[in-house]
Parts: sequence; structure tokens; C-alpha cells
Amino acid sequence: LAAPKQTIKMPRLMWRRLIIELRTRGQNRRESGAFLLGRAGAKDGHIVGFICYDDLDPKALDQGTILFHSVGLNKLWKICSEKKCEVLADIHTHPTDNVLQSSVDKKNPMIPVLDHVGLIIPNFANTSTWSLSGVGMYVFKGGMRWESFHPNADMAPLRLSLW
Ligand SMILES: [Zn+2]
Repeated sequence: LAAPKQTIKMPRLMWRRLIIELRTRGQNRRESGAFLLGRAGAKDGHIVGFICYDDLDPKALDQGTILFHSVGLNKLWKICSEKKCEVLADIHTHPTDNVLQSSVDKKNPMIPVLDHVGLIIPNFANTSTWSLSGVGMYVFKGGMRWESFHPNADMAPLRLSLW
């Protein structure tokens, strides 16, 4: 396996906020998700914020599995340009502890660019708010190809940081 271009760093407190947010929005009955943002051009891989799918597209969670519409992407690009941010990764929940990608997940990367990172959180985010254990990590390699990583692997594409 080739290493991803860079390791994305997520401040611990933000990870905690994110997990609680995904858990709350999923209401234990539907998947929820978010885009993780870094400063545009920063190259250090630091996540500086996140935007939940249903804030961009109010209907995104209605089907139980994520269905994100182009209206949401338009809003995302507008916010990114205003705040000078770029999307570093996306994250969504699955209903059980199975964090393998669904065929939809594989076929439809939220951001179809090489080395984009997709994360999957088990059990509607009823998981640890302090660690990455149980998280599925995938790096998009074009077409339907993804590389998958154990969350504790040295080469894992996401790491928690102090700040
Ligand atoms: Zn999925």
C-alpha cells in the first residue's frame, strides 16, 4: 500500500464535537455525515472545522442512507471560497459496527479527487469521542479503487492531534 499524500490532523476536541454532532443528527435511526475542512493551500493537513451534510442539504438524511444533492455541493463551494477553506475529508455514520464501504460509497466519492479521504463511523456514532477506534478509513484512488487503513496504522490518513 502506498501512503496517502499527507496525514490529516484532527484536534481532539473537534473530533469529540464532531462525533456528538453526528450522533445527535442521526437520532439512532439514520446515517449522518459531514465534510472536514482545512485552510485552503495550507498543506499542513490540519482540520479547522466541519460542516454537516444536512446543514448544506436539508434533505440529505431523509432516506436513512446519505443522499447528498448538488444544491448542497453548491453551498459547500460557496462557504469554502468565503472562508478560504478546502475539503480534506468526509465522514459518515453506518448503522452497525460494519464500517466497510457500501457499493454506493465506493462508486460515489463525495469529492472525486485522487487521495480524497473518506471516513466511516460505526453504530450511528455511538462510539468513543476520544479515539479513532472502529473507524473505517479509505483513500480514493480513482475509478472504484480505494485503499483502506486500520485506524491505528502508521500510514492511517487521519490522526488526532492536541490542537
Ligand atoms: Zn456508507
